[in-house]
Amino acid sequence: DTDAELIDADGPVLPEDVPESMLPVLAIVGRPNVGKSTLVNRVLGRREAVVQDVPGVTRDRVRYRAEWGGRPFVVVDTGGWEYDAKGINARVAEQAEIAIELADAVLFVVDATVGATDADERIVTLLRRSGKPVLLVANKVDSPRDEADAATLWSLGLGEPYPVSALHGRGTGDMLDAATSLLPEVTAVGGPMPVGGPHRVAIVGRPNVGKSSLLNAVTGTQRVVVDDFEGTTRDPVDELVELGGEPWVLVDTAGIRRRVHQTQGADFYASLRTQAAIEKAEVAVVVIDASSPITEQDIRVIQQAIDAGRALVVAYNKWDLLDEERRFYLEREIERELVQITWAPRVNFSARTRWHVDRLARQLDAAIAGWTTRIPTGRLNSFLGELAAAHPHPVRGGKQPRILFGTQVDTSPPRFVLFSTGFLEAGYRRFIERRLREEFGFVGSPIEISVRVRE
Ligand code: GDP
Ligand code: GDP
Repeated sequence: DTDAELIDADGPVLPEDVPESMLPVLAIVGRPNVGKSTLVNRVLGRREAVVQDVPGVTRDRVRYRAEWGGRPFVVVDTGGWEYDAKGINARVAEQAEIAIELADAVLFVVDATVGATDADERIVTLLRRSGKPVLLVANKVDSPRDEADAATLWSLGLGEPYPVSALHGRGTGDMLDAATSLLPEVTAVGGPMPVGGPHRVAIVGRPNVGKSSLLNAVTGTQRVVVDDFEGTTRDPVDELVELGGEPWVLVDTAGIRRRVHQTQGADFYASLRTQAAIEKAEVAVVVIDASSPITEQDIRVIQQAIDAGRALVVAYNKWDLLDEERRFYLEREIERELVQITWAPRVNFSARTRWHVDRLARQLDAAIAGWTTRIPTGRLNSFLGELAAAHPHPVRGGKQPRILFGTQVDTSPPRFVLFSTGFLEAGYRRFIERRLREEFGFVGSPIEISVRVRE
């Protein structure tokens, strides 16, 4: 009944078949200009996305799906963030800290031609404190005669430095062999939440949608005494609040209050923060400014929550600003941009006037109920049997894959494994997902379906 079983069970699992929320996470950290982005490109085996040849281009993608030696994993990339020259060491450290928190293992990249700097030393301290496995990468070792530079990095006390040239690919294969050997089969971060205690909520969304206003609306009136919930372990950056008569933990509220998004390179940094908050929560409230058009960035935050396998509530704020015309266009935008998440509960509210803020609790409850739903195997298989009889998989190349058996291997989010006689097309899987939702609800929750082919 565990994630590990899903991967270890006999029968090939295609790498692209493993849900992203289960993949182990490798973070790449280091000072600016040591070659992190170049290395990420090397790892991804393509020159997509990450290349920063155009100065001033901001980037807000954080996670990339990667594969080495047949093993899929996720790379968390911290390159490409622009820094203010002032306070740079603190920024580097803060950014690295978040990335480390999100990782199962860390590639710590140092520029061998420069050697270890103060900023590097600060990151070393963070790495030690985290206890996560670390591989020390000595980059810009473009030729054998540069290897002596790499050797000096033993002094960082992180073990053997791996000399590589991210630019030319030199040594990166051996380094990646070593790096992937540090990764667990299934990610241990953002994994199962502590059971019992108040549910954990992340308030996320792009800048200026009203996250801090919502936080204030919620904490301002209904602050609860922490001692009421003794035994609840929480970070100092989390806040305990009461909503709808229940206690909730709002995670990473310091991140919201700190208004980090006003700094340079903000989008990317905010995205990293968002990721960290989502990982710590069971349910994400994605706040959207309903008074202005839905943006790509809004959709990206929603996608982050889904990819992380968290329950989702979409909260449309600033309702006090909406006239009839805007309401009309908003509904069209939702139909157009958010059709894939019609399953997510929605709340229309105004943080400013506090209108409907109290409705949030009910939707959070609904999402968590959907997220934790478990379908008994017997029930699931009679459902699958009826579905396949009424709508069999289309014939492909003279063959017709048949579903033999299905089981829900996990909740939070619900994960299903279907055993079948052949590959099930994406369209058919989506159809199964739709029918599962119609039958069993799963309100507010992503669903993951993987297929195992049995001859
Ligand atoms: P980041 O800020 O850590 O992401 O660093 P980048 O990947 O943007 O690289 C910074 C600069 O170092 C760029 O000009 C790269 O071309 C260069 N660079 C990266 N890796 C290597 C390498 O292995 N050898 C050499 N000589 N230059 C490199
Ligand atoms: P954050 O960046 O997501 O934390 O957004 P803030 O909470 O700082 O809000 C951004 C701006 O929107 C501020 O000027 C708020 O006063 C305003 N705002 C937030 N909620 C509402 C609302 O419900 N109605 C209106 N009219 N303005 C709001």
